[in-house]
Amino acid sequence: MSQFMCLAMDSASAARFRTTRRDDRGGKILGRIVDRPGFPCRHCLRLGRLGEEMLLASWDLPLPGGPYWTPSPVFLHAGDCPHAAIEDALPETVRENPLVSLRHYDADGMCLYDLGIVVPGQEAEAPLRQRLGDPRVAFVNIHTAKPGCWLTRVERA
Ligand SMILES: [Zn+2]
Repeated sequence: MSQFMCLAMDSASAARFRTTRRDDRGGKILGRIVDRPGFPCRHCLRLGRLGEEMLLASWDLPLPGGPYWTPSPVFLHAGDCPHAAIEDALPETVRENPLVSLRHYDADGMCLYDLGIVVPGQEAEAPLRQRLGDPRVAFVNIHTAKPGCWLTRVERA
């Protein structure tokens, strides 16, 4: 039985960014060509491949609402890519990040400070599974630990 799902940016937001090239605050979306490892796409939850064109935008995260709401810088493939929903495994965008931050929220969107943890991406799955056993947790946002960019939202399957 699977325990969790990793969710991506919704396809409507991705399409809007690709079409308008404007972010959620009306700012210009930047274009980037993948020239080194990294460039995690928040729609297909894959890393950019060398030479691919990516967009760099600010996205208003749908969750949490309330006082812990935040926008995040995100990369996105400039062209169409499949919308990801990954069952019971972490995407490569998390696994291959050297240091990620797990931010846990309750059903009211309040941050559960006592559960927060920073770990290498390759070691994130075990503490994630453990914390999903806490009945207070409604969802988890995984961010890059240093710049704080959102990578995926995890919900129970
Ligand atoms: Zn993509």
